[in-house]
Amino acid sequence: MLLREPIHIIGGGLAGTEAAWQIARRGLRSILHEMRPVRRTPAHQTDRLAELVCSNSLKSEQESTAPWLLKEELRRLGSLLLCAAGKARVPGGHALTVDRELFSAEVTGAIASEPLIEVRREEVTALP
Ligand SMILES: Cc1cc2nc3c(=O)[nH]c(=O)nc-3n(C[C@H](O)[C@H](O)[C@H](O)COP(=O)(O)OP(=O)(O)OC[C@H]3O[C@@H](n4cnc5c(N)ncnc54)[C@H](O)[C@@H]3O)c2cc1C
Repeated sequence: MLLREPIHIIGGGLAGTEAAWQIARRGLRSILHEMRPVRRTPAHQTDRLAELVCSNSLKSEQESTAPWLLKEELRRLGSLLLCAAGKARVPGGHALTVDRELFSAEVTGAIASEPLIEVRREEVTALP
């Protein structure tokens, strides 16, 4: 695919970071716009990317359950988030539970070290 312009992604949460990572895996450049810490949200506590704002459980790892299947598909597709979750895993019974600080640090570090991704700490207020 021939793309001269980078792909713009608004929001460095779970969706945005995975999108940027997958775009980079395909050899394309992206600009990830994240408004924190310039503008805070009521839910987020840090300026890290992929901050989990709710439960630290990514749900079941028991084979043949729907949450396991979704995660397994993501793993096979080279998901950054599932790789980070594996490194940040903490005991949680049958669930994939993570240390949320370590999880977001892993993702933030991976995104920062990917030359095809530029992170811009700014709020996007309009679409050109
Ligand atoms: C209290 C609470 C409980 C929740 N419980 C669950 C749960 O149990 N299970 C579950 O699956 N989900 C839960 N969620 C939802 C959870 O937030 C999402 O699953 C997950 O965070 C969605 O990821 P995301 O990337 O779409 O959004 P987010 O992780 O919120 O990422 C969005 C990012 O975009 C940035 N941003 C927003 N607007 C702009 C802009 N204009 N310019 C630049 N940057 C911008 C934000 O700063 C943020 O970093 C809960 C949410 C809340 C608030």
